[in-house]
Amino acid sequence: MELYSGYINQLIEELAALPGIGNKSAQRLAFHLINMPQDKVNRLAKVMMEAKANICYCKECYTLTDREICPVCANRNRNHKLIMVVENTRDLAAYEKTQKYDGVYHVLHGAISPMLGIGPGDIKLKELMERLSGDVEEVIIATNSSLEGETTAMYIGKLIKPTGIKVTRIASGVPVGGDLEYIDEVTLLRALEGRTEI
Ligand code: ZN
Repeated sequence: MELYSGYINQLIEELAALPGIGNKSAQRLAFHLINMPQDKVNRLAKVMMEAKANICYCKECYTLTDREICPVCANRNRNHKLIMVVENTRDLAAYEKTQKYDGVYHVLHGAISPMLGIGPGDIKLKELMERLSGDVEEVIIATNSSLEGETTAMYIGKLIKPTGIKVTRIASGVPVGGDLEYIDEVTLLRALEGRTEI
């Protein structure tokens, strides 16, 4: 027996497919949306569609941005010879929040995971290597301290080593398996300052 009408079921189904939202939350959200004033629902739908339509990868660091070159890469006061490699745009934001890092970034959009079938070709690794043909002094690998993050760090280290460019890894002390975005700024800075050459 269908508990709700088709539209409600559809809405619940779509919401439940989002990460971190179980069936109960999806139902709560669905009824909340239905009870919202029409103009608020329209606005929500509009910003979702506009974000999807207008967000693209920065041509230099591959972070998600609504410009061709993101504000960090476009900033000439940043040290463009220092590249920090992160797994995603949220990790970049975590480091930006500290306001202490003056280099630029490279966003991989994932990490190597043999278990999930994600190989080096599935993340923005080729793009990183292409950037290294420019004037780069150091690459800081700031992938997460999860198994996937460590695997990725090792792989990148081996790849860059022959180029003679300095490769460093942020210090552990970042909780194992912890997503960078959930770590406080002091811990992040300590990890950055304590980075060691690999
Ligand atoms: Zn950029």
